[in-house]
Amino acid sequence: MNEVVSRQVVLYCVAKGLMVTDSSPVKDYYPVDFETDLNGKLQDWEAVVLIPFIDEVATFLLVTMITAIVLVMVMTALIATLLLLGHAQLNRHLSIMGLVNDPSCNQCSVAIESASHFLCQCDRFITLRQKNMGKIIFTPSRY
Ligand SMILES: [Zn+2]
Repeated sequence: MNEVVSRQVVLYCVAKGLMVTDSSPVKDYYPVDFETDLNGKLQDWEAVVLIPFIDEVATFLLVTMITAIVLVMVMTALIATLLLLGHAQLNRHLSIMGLVNDPSCNQCSVAIESASHFLCQCDRFITLRQKNMGKIIFTPSRY
């Protein structure tokens, strides 16, 4: 899936959810059934569709919030990808690139600051791992 298709899929999923989800603040603007007003015209396709007026301010705020959420999701995916590939700005990778001299962990100083140490073993993040993943230490595997 290329980048353009990916963005279209994300936008479609978000937009579809907004149009059909009962709790959506804009669901009323996309009614399944609606009335029309022919206003003197003869053909159905000439009729005016009678749907609620859109609250422009509320809709703008909603779109802004969705944009921010999608941006956070994209950035999270990017950071996760960099961590999984070992190309995050951690000292192991930075030392390989010659940007720092010491590959040791800045947080605990007892191990090399690799992605697996950062995510699975660093003592500095024990509380976060316990709270979010239910374990304090993980043993990374290659597969
Ligand atoms: Zn550490």
